[in-house]
Amino acid sequence: MKFDSYENYQSKIKRVLITEDEIQAAVKKAAKAIDEIYDGTPILLVSILKGAFVFMSDVCKAVTVPAEIAFMMAKSYFDGTVSSGNVQITMDITQNLEKYHVIIIEDIVDTGRTLSEIVKMLKARNPKSFRVIALLDKPSRRTVDFEADMVLFTIPDHFVIGYGLDCGEYYRNLPYIAEYGE
Ligand code: 5GP
Repeated sequence: MKFDSYENYQSKIKRVLITEDEIQAAVKKAAKAIDEIYDGTPILLVSILKGAFVFMSDVCKAVTVPAEIAFMMAKSYFDGTVSSGNVQITMDITQNLEKYHVIIIEDIVDTGRTLSEIVKMLKARNPKSFRVIALLDKPSRRTVDFEADMVLFTIPDHFVIGYGLDCGEYYRNLPYIAEYGE
């Protein structure tokens, strides 16, 4: 993605949907719920790169249960705002999941394809328990039957950027969630 100017880059950030403060308050609430559910039992937080890296960073700092972290990489959007329809696991985790209570930390559930594929794959490795936490959910876009166990924000069908989410690899470093527009 090319920008002819900084103004051009800025102009595509249409409006802030979820502020930094709102995100941080919701992350704290989610971390408290994780602490209560696992009650001192060690967990493995698995984040899906790249979109969930900021969310993962905040969640892992906010929980107080003993936590290991791991990263997977899945590709489902290619340099734009339209889904390719395919889910490709380009980097897998190496842990033996039979030893772990696993929590998937994901940025957004859109069509649901990415998570339903990843969940199928990881559950087949027999973890001690399994949960999915998603920062955002766009239920109106769902094409496969998938629900996360915990969702921090439900949003309408807008393409969003910020807090880890990109458009053409830019905007991941915004501290808030914004609507993207040409
Ligand atoms: P799904 O497989 O549920 O259709 O899509 C999952 C992936 O598509 C997400 O993990 C995310 O990387 C990307 N995605 C879906 N909706 C959006 C969006 O509104 N903004 C951005 N930046 N990525 C999205």
